[in-house]
Amino acid sequence: MQPTVSIVGRPNVGKSTLFNRLIGERKAIVHDEYGVTRDRHYGESFWNGRNFTVIDTGGYLPDDPDVITSGVREQVHIAIDESDLILFVVDTESGVNSLDKAVAEILRKQDKPVLCVVNKADNEEKVHQAYEFYELGFDTIYPVSSISGSGTGDLLDRVVELL
Ligand code: GDP
Ligand code: MG
Repeated sequence: MQPTVSIVGRPNVGKSTLFNRLIGERKAIVHDEYGVTRDRHYGESFWNGRNFTVIDTGGYLPDDPDVITSGVREQVHIAIDESDLILFVVDTESGVNSLDKAVAEILRKQDKPVLCVVNKADNEEKVHQAYEFYELGFDTIYPVSSISGSGTGDLLDRVVELL
């Protein structure tokens, strides 16, 4: 079985945009599951000679903060069970949020490698803003723009080093 990378985080931080960026032009969706919280899309990625599976999580969540919180937490626990590495996506436009802190806390208490991806870092100013996410306690943050692709090469370099 090839290694598996899960993408987790709050709704609207750009998980699906990052997923599409990581699976690239081939859009190789290998398997889909649907459901309010169990919505998961499996794709294939390839970088520096390594193949791995990427899982997008989350999908549509109802506009109820409690349902969002429990849904995101459930996705994080499934990702911890199911993957070799976790991409925890946060959003520099909305800044550090209490649900981000709760997810960071769950991720710190387990042994799988976690990379904190600060998405929507579309320009230099936003890359600087992204540093506020060091507050979540990760050694390194990866500012990226999933829309333009900037920063995703450094992120992928690190992903394949850890797999
Ligand atoms: P998800 O709910 O976490 O899967 O988020 P989506 O991938 O659906 O993206 C949510 C919104 O953020 C969409 O309107 C995207 O176009 C936008 N978005 C995603 N990535 C970026 C980015 O790198 N920069 C900016 N400015 N917007 C982004
Ligand atoms: Mg999505």
